[in-house]
Amino acid sequence: MSTEPLPSTLDVRKAAVRSATVGGVLKPQDLPRFRALLAGGDGIIRAELAFSRDEENRYLVRVAVNADVTVTCQRCLEAMPIEVHAENTLAVVWTDEQAAQLPRQLDPLIVSGEICQLWELVEEELILSLPAFSYHETEDCKRKLAGFAEPAPQMAVDEGRPNPFDVLAQLKPGSKY
Ligand SMILES: [Zn+2]
Repeated sequence: MSTEPLPSTLDVRKAAVRSATVGGVLKPQDLPRFRALLAGGDGIIRAELAFSRDEENRYLVRVAVNADVTVTCQRCLEAMPIEVHAENTLAVVWTDEQAAQLPRQLDPLIVSGEICQLWELVEEELILSLPAFSYHETEDCKRKLAGFAEPAPQMAVDEGRPNPFDVLAQLKPGSKY
């Protein structure tokens, strides 16, 4: 896939007639509404958009996006990397009325004139695909280190030193010690 920046706009009629495919990369900062949902500006977004016409002469855009970004873990509130994948097929329309007439499997992409705003399209698909809540894997999460860990099982106890777990046991009410 191309490592060039994704073009920000495209003539949608020409692209559909030629069955054009455009691809490229973006940074989170390029998409301010998406960036606002992230923990930081690091990362990369790879997008590919394939234009075509269907048998009803509609202009279609197949969007595939992969983003490596960081979000906030909702358990420990530290940043965590995630991969967001979005894939959708949209039909280009010019009015809400046309949008309402589309078959159910096609989402409308409302454009004004001939120009498709590719970055906005990618941003919209990413926002829709971003999980509402993200959590670290248990072993990576800082919340556990802050005192929620199970004590590690101790198979062999060093006879010379007091076992801290024995000390704890002695402090419990009803202890035999
Ligand atoms: Zn976490």
